[in-house]
Amino acid sequence: MQIEAKARVVEGDIVTMDPARPRAQALAVRGGRLLAVGSRQEAEAAAGPGHERLRWDRGTIVPGLIDTHNHMHWTGIQSRLVDLAGARSIADIQRSVREWAARHPEAPWVTSGTGWHVANLAEQRYPTRQELDAACAERPVYLPRVGHAAVVNSRALQLAGIGAGTPDPEGGKIERDAQGLPNGVLLEPPAFEPVARLVPPPSLADQEGALRDVQATYHAAGLTGIVDPGVTPEIMAVYQNLWARGELSMRSVIMPLADSSLPLEENLARLRNAGLRTGFGDARLKLGGVKLFLDGGASLGTSLMREPYPDERCNCGIQVTPTETFRQIAWQCARQGWSLGVHVVGGKAIDIALDVFAEIDREIPLAPLRFCLIHAYLWPEARNIREARRMGITVATQCSMQYTFGPLLVKRFGTALMATATPVRSWLDGGVVVGGGSDSPVTRFEPLLGLWQARTRRIAGTDEPIGKLQAVSGEEALAMYTRDAAYVAFSEHERGMLRPGLLADWTVLSVDPTTCEAEALADAQVLATAVGGELVHGR
Ligand SMILES: [Zn+2]
Repeated sequence: MQIEAKARVVEGDIVTMDPARPRAQALAVRGGRLLAVGSRQEAEAAAGPGHERLRWDRGTIVPGLIDTHNHMHWTGIQSRLVDLAGARSIADIQRSVREWAARHPEAPWVTSGTGWHVANLAEQRYPTRQELDAACAERPVYLPRVGHAAVVNSRALQLAGIGAGTPDPEGGKIERDAQGLPNGVLLEPPAFEPVARLVPPPSLADQEGALRDVQATYHAAGLTGIVDPGVTPEIMAVYQNLWARGELSMRSVIMPLADSSLPLEENLARLRNAGLRTGFGDARLKLGGVKLFLDGGASLGTSLMREPYPDERCNCGIQVTPTETFRQIAWQCARQGWSLGVHVVGGKAIDIALDVFAEIDREIPLAPLRFCLIHAYLWPEARNIREARRMGITVATQCSMQYTFGPLLVKRFGTALMATATPVRSWLDGGVVVGGGSDSPVTRFEPLLGLWQARTRRIAGTDEPIGKLQAVSGEEALAMYTRDAAYVAFSEHERGMLRPGLLADWTVLSVDPTTCEAEALADAQVLATAVGGELVHGR
């Protein structure tokens, strides 16, 4: 953080999100913190003589936006791989693979980012290995999708030793064609990890470069802070190396991954021996809760449901971590003072998580630890919401996911059920603190998309809102990305509001998101972004 010798007065139309003083005309900033928030006279008096001035005649200044579920490291790495985010057909995928392979003749593998969606493809299905072979046959091709699926070409299957005789691994599925041969689609990590393991990992230097460079695109979207969920020890080192060099401009809260592919005892030992716990760090880099996956993903049909998927009579999804393993890790977290964020998409996974939390809460009150339900969007029931509220459990929600996966999920579950998915209104009415986010690179990280979707409840490809009853107000939506996001990120004592003493993080939007028409957010722009009083985007 750069320490300014001079104070600075920032003028504009200001929404503080501070209930004590919701609106202001000026901020005074020194040494990265807010000295005063109020009228121009108050700010000038606090700044003293000789201060610098910054003024926005249009737009609205809001607290710096925070994404409570954003794989920033992974997004950075992805930005250097085959980009399939814009693919609208299997031919598009083939073209991208072919072009990337031609541009990187030295690369032993052709690998894509994971932010691509079958729902966006004209064919509404994954490509087959033969279709990938047509784009690139001589080198192995590995196209992972959002952590729960991957498509590979024949060369990759061959290198991984996956053939006609390979049985489905526990917790995973190898899709087959009519002849019973693997068709190249591998569902859930146990199925695609044998391939993933062969892909040479990016070097530490590559990872640091990717993480450093991606921050500028985040700041341009208005973000000043993220929670990166599920980082390995190596990724933690990447973050710390950037932090040590003063290159981490994004306020980053990182969640160590409890890796359910490791033996339980190893996960428990890591927690027992870590010494550090949630909250350690500084305003730039901090430890969040432990991250653990309980189920899969809804768009893939692997989230753990209370009842079978409507289109597949005996499929209730996949429980990625057995309940007993989850219970022991959750207990260990509570004993060692770690928070725990658990990936739960389907109702059955939500039930299991809250049952285990309730068992722990009887002995160790969970409220101070702020355990978190991540996603929790396929139908938490009223009793789940009451339980979450009672135990002080927070929710990390992703309206951008409702938008992106909406069309596919409407097809799978019907409009009536999807109207009550991602029930932000119900969580808020139930008194649960909800943080907004994107799950980038799973869906786009621009917070303006989430702010817009939370109010409009629109999904991709249609103008009809789905579940208008779950819409929230402009102020509630902004709170999800500022004040309440800071709470979910264990940082409400230093950011999330514009209040004297807190960090001088702000974002200038072309509209006032608390008063503008919801649709105006679709065309809104980010005019500037500041972290610790320093502009990281705009002018
Ligand atoms: Zn995620």
